[in-house]
Amino acid sequence: MTKQLQSQWFLRGVLPACGSLVLCSLLLFSLSWAAARSDAVAVLRQRDLVTLTIAKLKAGIAHDQESATVWDDAVRNARAGNIEWIDANLGSWMHSYFGHDAALVLTSDLAPLYQFSADSDYAPTPGDLRGAYLPLAETLQGRLVAGDADGTNEKILSIGETDLSYVGFRPAIVSVKPIVSDTGDVEQTAGSEMLHVVVRFLDGDLPTVIGKEYAFSELQFSATRPRDRSLAFVPLKDRDGEIFGYFEWKPFRPGHHVLEATTPALILAFVALFAGSSLAGGAIWRRTERLAASRAELSHQACHDALTGLANRSHFNDELNRRLQEALDDERHTVLFVDLDRFKAVNDTFGHPIGDKLISLAAERMRDLLPEALIARIGGDEFTVLLQKDYALQVEKLADALVQGLKVPFEIETAHIVIGASIGVAIARGPCDPAELTRQADIALYHAKAAGRNTYAIFGDHMDELLRKRRALESDLRSAVVSGSQIETFYQPVYSASNGRICSLEALARWKHHTLGYISPDEFIPLAEEMGLIREIGSLVLEDACRTLAELPDITVAVNASARELEAPGYALRVLTTLARWNLSPDRLEIEMTESATIDNCGELGRTISTLRTAGVRFAIDDFGTGYSSFSRVQKVEVDRIKIDKSFIDDMHRSDSRALVIAMIDMARAKGLKITAEGVETTEQREALESLGCDDLQGFLMSRPLPREAAIAYVSAATSEAQIVSAV
Ligand code: C2E
Ligand code: CA
Ligand code: CA
Repeated sequence: MTKQLQSQWFLRGVLPACGSLVLCSLLLFSLSWAAARSDAVAVLRQRDLVTLTIAKLKAGIAHDQESATVWDDAVRNARAGNIEWIDANLGSWMHSYFGHDAALVLTSDLAPLYQFSADSDYAPTPGDLRGAYLPLAETLQGRLVAGDADGTNEKILSIGETDLSYVGFRPAIVSVKPIVSDTGDVEQTAGSEMLHVVVRFLDGDLPTVIGKEYAFSELQFSATRPRDRSLAFVPLKDRDGEIFGYFEWKPFRPGHHVLEATTPALILAFVALFAGSSLAGGAIWRRTERLAASRAELSHQACHDALTGLANRSHFNDELNRRLQEALDDERHTVLFVDLDRFKAVNDTFGHPIGDKLISLAAERMRDLLPEALIARIGGDEFTVLLQKDYALQVEKLADALVQGLKVPFEIETAHIVIGASIGVAIARGPCDPAELTRQADIALYHAKAAGRNTYAIFGDHMDELLRKRRALESDLRSAVVSGSQIETFYQPVYSASNGRICSLEALARWKHHTLGYISPDEFIPLAEEMGLIREIGSLVLEDACRTLAELPDITVAVNASARELEAPGYALRVLTTLARWNLSPDRLEIEMTESATIDNCGELGRTISTLRTAGVRFAIDDFGTGYSSFSRVQKVEVDRIKIDKSFIDDMHRSDSRALVIAMIDMARAKGLKITAEGVETTEQREALESLGCDDLQGFLMSRPLPREAAIAYVSAATSEAQIVSAV
C-alpha cells in the first residue's frame, strides 16, 4: 500500500473508527456504571423488601391463628375433642381462608389431637411435624406457665412462638399459639392450654403468591446459597440466627433495562459519529492532498523550466554542487553544455510559438536519449546535462548520440526544420569546484562551435590557451573597430550573365590584424555580432562603399547587413544620411540580408526595409535556399533580388541541385525578382547559369574580392575596355 493510501485509510477509516469507538465506549462505560449502581441499589431495596415480607408473613400467620384461637368456643370444642368443629374452625378453614398448609391442635401434654394437611399427595408425617413444632410448643408452654404476656397488646392477643423450620425436608414457617378464652369466661390454668400449630411451606405456592403481590420475578426458596450471579437472594435466619435457607429471585434491574433501551441509540450514535468523522477525515485528507499537491507543484516550479519541464539553472547548480562535494576521489562526474545551432534563425523566421515548440521537442529528444541524466534548460537554446557517474566512460558515445539525435529534422506543423547542436563536455575526477567544471564545459562548447558546429568537444588543457587567444582577439577587434584603421573593405565584382560586363561590386569587410594579417569575416563577423560591434563595422563598410560609388559612376554596390543591424532603430536614417553625404542616388545601393533575417514586413525590420525601398535602395536575399521555407517567405518579404547560395552552385552537376536552382529561378522570375548566382568557380557552372536565365554571376572564376584601389582600377579598366568595344 502506498503512503498516500495509508494516510487516506487512516484519516477516513482508522481514526474515525477509533475516535467514535473511544467516545461510544466512554459513554457506554458511564451508562453501564450508572446502570450497575442503580441496579445495586434496586437489588438492595428488593432484599430489604423480601426480608420485611418474610417478617410480616411470620407475624401474619400468628395473627391469622388468633382469629380462631382466642375464642371461648375454641377452648370448649378443643377440650371436648369436637373434631368436626375443630376441622371447620381450626383446621381446613385455616387453609381455605389463609392458605395455611397444615394445622394441628395439641393437647396440654403436647400430643396431637387433630391434624390437617392441605396437600393430599404429600402430607407431612406426624413425626416430621412433631420435630418441627415440639421445641416451639415446649417453649410456649414454659412461657404460659411462667405467665409471660410479653408482646401482647391490642393487635397481638396471645403470646406465641414462630420459627422457620424443616418439616421433614420441606422448609416452612411454623407458628404455635395457645387456644385461649377471649372473654375469660372459660377457666384455664396456665400451662394447661391446648396449642394450635400452623405450617406454611416456603417451597410451595407461597413464593409465587408473594412474588405476584410484590412483583418479584421467579421468587423461590433455595436451601443452598444460589450460585447463579444473575439472581438476587436473601438468607433466611431462624430464631437462633442460623441461616436456614435462602429466598432467591430474578431481580428487577432498572439500570439494565435503561441500558438495553439505549443500546440501539448508542449504536446509531456510533454509526453517526463514525460517518461524520469519516466525512470530516475525508475532507481533511482531500484538503491535505490539495495542499501537498500545490506544495509539490510550487517546489516543482521552483526547480523546473516551465516550457520543457526540465530542471532549471538553479536546480541544476544545486545538484551539481551536491554531487561534486560528495564525490569520492575515484568518481567521475560529467557535465555537457548543449547549444542548439541556428535556433535564433528558426525563432526569427517562424516566430516564437514554433521556436518554443522546437525547444520542447529538442528537450524531449534529449530526455529520450539520456533518460537517467539530469538535464536542465539554462537559457533560450542552451541546455546542461549532468551524467550519472557510471556513464563517464561512455561520454563520447553519448555526446555523439546527442549530436546525431538533434540533427534529425523536426516536423512542426507544416514546417520541416533542421537544426543541430554543439556540445561542450567537461569531466571532473573526484571532488571539484563546480564553477571550474562549468567554465571548462563552456570553453569546450566554444570549441565545438568553432569546429563548425554540429559536433562535440571534450575539454582539455590546450583549450584554455585557445580561450586566452579568443579573449585577446576580442580585445583586438574592439580596438580595431574603435580606431577604424584595421577594418578594410574589399570588393568582389558581379557580372551580367547576358554580356559578361561588371554591373556591380559586393563590399566585403576585411580585418587586417596587426600581427595575424587578414582575418576572414566568417570568423570576426559572428564575434562582432556577439560583442555588439556589428553596427560599427557596418557603418565603416557602408562609408567605404559610398566612397567607392562616388568614384565609379557606372556601377552599383552591394553591402551586407546582419539582422541585428537591420533591426536596430535608426538604420534606415543612417544609410540615407550616408548616401546623401556622398551625394549618391539611393538606387545605386543594394543591401544584402541573409534569409533568416527576412521576417514578415512588420516590426522595426519591416519599417526599415519599406523606408529604404521607398527611397530607392534595393534589397537582396543573400544565401538564398539555405534558410527556411525560402519559397513561402519570399512571397511575404519585399525584396528586389535573390542571391542563390554557393552550395547549390557547387552541386549543380547533380540533377536534384540543378532542379532546385531551376525552381528558384522560375520562382524569382514569376515574382519579378533579379537573380544572382554566387560562388561561380567553373565555366560549366557559368554556362549552365547563363543558359538557365540567371541575371548576374559572381565568383572566383571571374574575380576574387579585391582591395578597394585594385577594384576601382579593375572596374575602370573593364568599363573603358567595354566602351572601346562598344565604340568599335
Ligand atoms: P557572403 O555575403 O555570402 O559573401 C560572399 C562570400 O563568398 C565572400 O566571402 C566571398 O569572398 C566568397 N566568394 C565569392 N565567390 C566565391 C567563389 O567562387 N568561391 C568561394 N569559395 N568563395 C566565394 P567573405 O568575404 O569571406 O565573406 C564571408 C561572409 O561574411 C559573407 O558571405 C557575409 O555573410 C559576411 N560579411 C562580409 N562582409 C560583411 C559586412 O560588411 N557585414 C556583414 N554583416 N557581413 C559581412
Ligand atoms: Ca553577400
Ligand atoms: Ca552569400
